Amino acid sequence: MTEALYQTDSYLREFDAIVTGVEGNAVTLNRTAFYPGGGGQPHDTGTLTAGSYTWRVTRVRKAGPDVWHEVEGEPPAAGTTVHGQIDWERRYQLMRTHTAMHILCGVIWRDYGASVTGGNMEPLRGRMDFEFEGLRQELVHEIEAKINAEVAAARPVRVKILPRAEAFQIPDLIRTKINLLPEGIQEVRTVEIAGLDLQADGGTHVANTREVGPIRIADYMSKGKINKRIVVELEGTA
Ligand SMILES: [Zn+2]
Repeated sequence: MTEALYQTDSYLREFDAIVTGVEGNAVTLNRTAFYPGGGGQPHDTGTLTAGSYTWRVTRVRKAGPDVWHEVEGEPPAAGTTVHGQIDWERRYQLMRTHTAMHILCGVIWRDYGASVTGGNMEPLRGRMDFEFEGLRQELVHEIEAKINAEVAAARPVRVKILPRAEAFQIPDLIRTKINLLPEGIQEVRTVEIAGLDLQADGGTHVANTREVGPIRIADYMSKGKINKRIVVELEGTA
């Protein structure tokens, strides 16, 4: 099993670990800071190093309790101590983008009562789908101003890992379909934007909304009478 260092410290860029398994061009480690993807956030990329040899990590994925790192070239053998380093610029852009998406769905729920049905992101650009019948072009500017006000409000972003039973008592989490979590999952990781949004979420986030920087609503699409899509973009350097 891989200890998921990214779950408790999203700012960790480098770490040491031991290769605990090899399959084809992929290795699993006893601990990792590489995010394996999930919740609309893409996996990290980066490098593993041992001595004078460096492997490029091109893909990361979770399989049961293990995180697998696909590398270029012949992978390091089981038992090798490696130094991992994630591509920090890309990851930090994804952290800012992910938090921006939570700001967006928090504002849209609070002020318009519309819920999210899906979303996806790449560095500095994200899209979210809402059940939001009343969304129209005039509202888009209003929403953009509101989400930027939440960035300016410098709200702390807090991550907690709660026992399942405790998480199930929190009304905000029920709203975000926590009840769909598989039976076997005994702990629930929550991401709270203080005073704005609380979700069960596995992603890596910035510690304060001010780190997101200015958010632009780049596109808005009607995907039917009720289903609407909003696309947001961030600036390259916060
Ligand atoms: Zn999320």
